[in-house]
Amino acid sequence: MSKFEEIQKVCLRRGIIFPSAEIYPTISGFFDYGPIGTLIKRKLIDYWREFFVKSEDNIFEMDGSLILSEKVFKASGHLESFVDPITQCKKCKSMFKADDLIKELTGISVEGKPTEEMNKLIKERKLKCPKCKGELSEVRLFNLMLKTEVSPVGGQIAYLRPETAQNIFTAFPRISRAMRAKLPFGIAQVGKSFRNEISPRHFIVRVREFNQAEIEMFFDPENPACPNFEKIKKKKIRILSHEAQKKGKEAELMTVEEALKRKILPNEWLAYFLVKEFEFYKSLGIPEDSLRFRHMLPEETPHYSKGNFDLEIKFEFGWKETVGNAYRTDYDLKKHMKFSGKDLTVITEDGRKIIPHVVEPSFGIDRTIAGILLHCFVEDKKRGWNWFKFPPKIAPFMAAIFPLVSKDGLPEKAKEVYEMLRKEFDVYYDEKGSIGKRYARADEIGVPFGITIDYQTLEDDTVTIRDRDTTKQERVKISELTGILKSLIDRKN
Ligand code: ATP
Repeated sequence: MSKFEEIQKVCLRRGIIFPSAEIYPTISGFFDYGPIGTLIKRKLIDYWREFFVKSEDNIFEMDGSLILSEKVFKASGHLESFVDPITQCKKCKSMFKADDLIKELTGISVEGKPTEEMNKLIKERKLKCPKCKGELSEVRLFNLMLKTEVSPVGGQIAYLRPETAQNIFTAFPRISRAMRAKLPFGIAQVGKSFRNEISPRHFIVRVREFNQAEIEMFFDPENPACPNFEKIKKKKIRILSHEAQKKGKEAELMTVEEALKRKILPNEWLAYFLVKEFEFYKSLGIPEDSLRFRHMLPEETPHYSKGNFDLEIKFEFGWKETVGNAYRTDYDLKKHMKFSGKDLTVITEDGRKIIPHVVEPSFGIDRTIAGILLHCFVEDKKRGWNWFKFPPKIAPFMAAIFPLVSKDGLPEKAKEVYEMLRKEFDVYYDEKGSIGKRYARADEIGVPFGITIDYQTLEDDTVTIRDRDTTKQERVKISELTGILKSLIDRKN
């Protein structure tokens, strides 16, 4: 069994993440987060918000509706071009995303290429259904948006948003005025997006309902400087350039200053976000060599974009885009201005009326969680059980509180400690089963510390703190426990 499959098993058994409505035959691509998964997801989003929104003076967060009128998607281009090529096996009826299937079977990338080219390859190479070797149908385009009809009398066509970005563009004039925002400024949004994916797979990596966290950073194209650039220009990130891709080389570690000089990166704003993303993912336990920014090839890049960089995480099944970064210029605001007839311009400090340009980092929260689960998973033969090395910032609980045995007044004392700690931290109390089993259960969901109340506690008011990563125990006074736990958490974060 692969590591990723092992993780899914743990997620099911511990009710962390599991198929939605699983008591019925399920529809693939939908997952529920149970109590532990919800804590992890919520903490990840909070951390994202701290890292990318609250730490900046000029990024505002909004929370827009999930269902938007057809008009929005006519303007944004989704109605016409948010499509994937699809092919179906004539025998077993399995559906495939044609470009992925061709890549899988031939190694040739046809992403963004016309369907004719894909049909030609299928014919020439006599490609067959990988499941039953049946014949594949003609490739056709399939729109990924989920359609719905609003109002009891119908007729109001709407779509579940396929990305969070469109709320930001449509709310742009109101938010910029209401917040008296001056360029450069950003609008962020975290929330659900929906895509009718052709073949959802790899657990929560490709699903039909998922969480995104996006920022649209608006700036004046005539003044594209990022005020914080000086602070980060010497930071190194791993970039897989066009050249490296052509030559089949690895990603290269370089400063963003150099990447700008070499004209790999288009502007300081994008450089700024890439540096922050690299730091963010490393701080979540993903090793540097399992992260890279792939400069998207011209054929994968929309015509309006002046540079797309995917932050990719290495999975067992290949590198997967987890954050899409794009310099979208003024494309979106211009389109919405045209289709709505509303004025989406802003006046610059020096009195020019402009449509701002925008740099967009677009994070997939569920894909990020999948990456964290994989890279924090420790297969530990010596210990006898597997566990997650989550950094405390996203661990579901900071500590578990255990009475050594469930008699002789130890549970009562342990509950006192629990009541004290729960005021400060996410902690839980567990007295069921042997102490070894309880350590294993806590490790398995990545709880960084275990606090055990034993017979000595009753004599001298001390407890032991067990470190998940080393399994070493340290005896401390209950009166000092809160402070010590705080510093231990900080050290591990
Ligand atoms: P892909 O090529 O993998 O379909 P995309 O290029 O369509 O992704 P974007 O539109 O750039 O993705 O979306 C931004 C981010 O949202 C992605 O990097 C990913 O993390 C997340 N995301 C997109 N589609 C899905 C999905 N079906 N399931 C889970 N996460 C997704």
